[in-house]
Amino acid sequence: MFKTFEHAFDSLVLFMMKRRLLMKTYACPKCRYLFQYSHSPGACPDCGARSIRKATVEEIREYRRIQKILEEDIRMGLWSDTPCVPI
Ligand SMILES: [Zn+2]
Repeated sequence: MFKTFEHAFDSLVLFMMKRRLLMKTYACPKCRYLFQYSHSPGACPDCGARSIRKATVEEIREYRRIQKILEEDIRMGLWSDTPCVPI
């Protein structure tokens, strides 16, 4: 299927980049949870509220800021003892 590990890795990176481009950020007005979906979500994945709306520019910036902190924490191995949860 893939000739080399690098080829497989490049394909995975492209897949992740495409997926990230398709993702939109949403906010839950009830619990203030910020999350991303590639399609319109039916309910908040945290509290189940159905009044989901698209995130404001400020909320998207906040979401990205938190994501960067989490990615840096993962790179530093701070989450290595916690079980892996699919995103
Ligand atoms: Zn919620």
